[in-house]
Amino acid sequence: MQPTKIVVAGAGMAGLVAAVQAQERGADVVLLEKGPQPGGSLALSGGTLWCPRTVEDLRRLVPRGHGELGRILVEDFPAGVQWLRDRGTNLALLEGLPDRKVYIMEPGPGAFIGQMVERFQSGGGTLLVDTAATALLSNDAGQVSGISVRTGDGPLQNIACDRVILATGGFQANPEMMARYFGRWSDRLILRSNPHSTGDGWQMAQLLHAGPSQAMGSFYGHLLPAPPAQVPTHDFIAYTQYHSAQGVLVNSQGERFTDESLGDETNAQVVARQPQALAFLIFDDFVYRTFAVRAEGGGARASDTFFESKELGAPAGTAPNLEELAEAMQMWGLHAPTLLATLRSYNQAVAQGSGARLAAPRRQNANPVLTPPFYALGVTPGVTFTLGGLSINHNAQVLDRSGHAIPGLYAAGADAGGIHNEQYAGGLCLGLVFGRRAGQHAAA
Ligand SMILES: Cc1cc2nc3c(=O)[nH]c(=O)nc-3n(C[C@H](O)[C@H](O)[C@H](O)COP(=O)(O)OP(=O)(O)OC[C@H]3O[C@@H](n4cnc5c(N)ncnc54)[C@H](O)[C@@H]3O)c2cc1C
Repeated sequence: MQPTKIVVAGAGMAGLVAAVQAQERGADVVLLEKGPQPGGSLALSGGTLWCPRTVEDLRRLVPRGHGELGRILVEDFPAGVQWLRDRGTNLALLEGLPDRKVYIMEPGPGAFIGQMVERFQSGGGTLLVDTAATALLSNDAGQVSGISVRTGDGPLQNIACDRVILATGGFQANPEMMARYFGRWSDRLILRSNPHSTGDGWQMAQLLHAGPSQAMGSFYGHLLPAPPAQVPTHDFIAYTQYHSAQGVLVNSQGERFTDESLGDETNAQVVARQPQALAFLIFDDFVYRTFAVRAEGGGARASDTFFESKELGAPAGTAPNLEELAEAMQMWGLHAPTLLATLRSYNQAVAQGSGARLAAPRRQNANPVLTPPFYALGVTPGVTFTLGGLSINHNAQVLDRSGHAIPGLYAAGADAGGIHNEQYAGGLCLGLVFGRRAGQHAAA
């Protein structure tokens, strides 16, 4: 009997895992990569492979995520970690986090990508780089029968196959789709991802009437220094303002608009809807020293997130008192008296322990802006991947708009949407768990 022929579109986290898994189950696999080399956003990541420990932890971290797929994510994760270790991946356990299991890829994602590619190719798999999947082919019964691809500027070519696994990494690099789902200021958002994830998986599957998941208006990302700063693609982590949850965010009207303590991932999504997708992160010297200056660790280099952002050209300034800070921020179009009133009423509320009763409440990390000097940095959201995408079932089969599995079509990683919604609990774990599920079922 001929082996099942599978084409995997995208050689990032989900695609590499799916390709190796399907091959191990006896399939003949072709792995397509649109970029010049495999890796996608996985290659830009810190290689921190993490997942909530229990389903309850996941529900608390991501209350609006997909129930059944979330359960699978948590329950399959330990077996996925073991599967990687059995294949030689060095995963160092990071101890001491009560609600999550965290492993660091050592020496980094680059080595992991190399290992997976080597394993795949030595097992007889074909990797085609600089080759984009462009369209799905199907037979009269609606069963996937092949895929159309283009290498470089060459002609379209059809590859006949029994199954296709879509793992193209989401649609954050597609301006039209971003405007559709993220609105007026989407073109101000910074791409904090590989540049090739232009929603190809989503668009190809639409021709077979694939259905959308929940969370189409939700993304995972972080605040980055605002333009004119341009963050180097291979150094996103060093400039990521993870500590926005410890500071105060104001919009260009000088007003707070969210509970910053909900976390930088949430702040990024809220800032995306503020005018110009722009905010100013304000904090004092205590927050600067404690959170904005980071030591090396977790796959990231040491960085001074404030002064390095300033050097890149972001709107950034310091002042010895709040009055001078507000005065200085007028050059970015803010109204000094409004900004000063915002900071004073915030400081007063946190001093009185009534931060939760502010119009934009502050429930945790209620750090006052108290110890000079004071810092202000213009920030804009960077989008790492879109949380909405194709609707899948427990086998990672893509569902049509009526909820029926489309024969021969699978999605994993960021192409499979709705597992996380609004909040986020790891990106690499999605590729690992659902990449394996897709590879196993497609090869069966
Ligand atoms: C700076 C940064 C830090 C991060 N840190 C972490 C972290 O520490 N922990 C964590 O869990 N997550 C992290 N992430 C997120 C993580 O990298 C992603 O969630 C994960 O890589 C998504 O896997 P994926 O396979 O869906 O997409 P990717 O890994 O991005 O792979 C998608 C691939 O598909 C290719 N492609 C696109 N279109 C086509 C097409 N038409 N045909 C063929 N190929 C195509 C792309 O070129 C790309 O190689 C980070 C991301 C970034 C950018």
